Amino acid sequence: MEVEQRMEWFRDRCTAAGLPCTHQRQVLYRALLEATDHPSPEALYDRVRREIPSISLGTVYRNIRTFLDRGLIGEVSLHHGSLRLEANNQPHHHFVCTECRSMFDLPVDALPVDALDPIPFRRPLPPGFRVNRFIVEAQGLCPACALKKN
Ligand SMILES: [Zn+2]
Ligand SMILES: [Zn+2]
Repeated sequence: MEVEQRMEWFRDRCTAAGLPCTHQRQVLYRALLEATDHPSPEALYDRVRREIPSISLGTVYRNIRTFLDRGLIGEVSLHHGSLRLEANNQPHHHFVCTECRSMFDLPVDALPVDALDPIPFRRPLPPGFRVNRFIVEAQGLCPACALKKN
């Protein structure tokens, strides 16, 4: 989907949620749409500051929290020590470079279903657990780090 279409979607969702679609929020959301690196809130702050020099890190945090709570953006992974964000709301998997910690979206067809089979998911979880989503993460070297290792 094109950025402009997704901005349209964002404005509609804000209206539906009774959330004022402020200039700040639109700049923030657009920066996330244009990001391909799953930025941390701090990295996002650096980018929006170029457009809104007066914005504070606290405001960025607050808006990110609001976006997350309303399902407007997603949190990539819960256990990397820092929050990493994305606006891509299509189901997809990630590749994480074990060297530089870069995160990439994998093409939807990058993992054949068989690749998930070493640990069978079909067995029920122990009683008491409730699954909300499965996250598959491929780990290895990104092209830049693979080159350096040669
Ligand atoms: Zn790397
Ligand atoms: Zn992603």
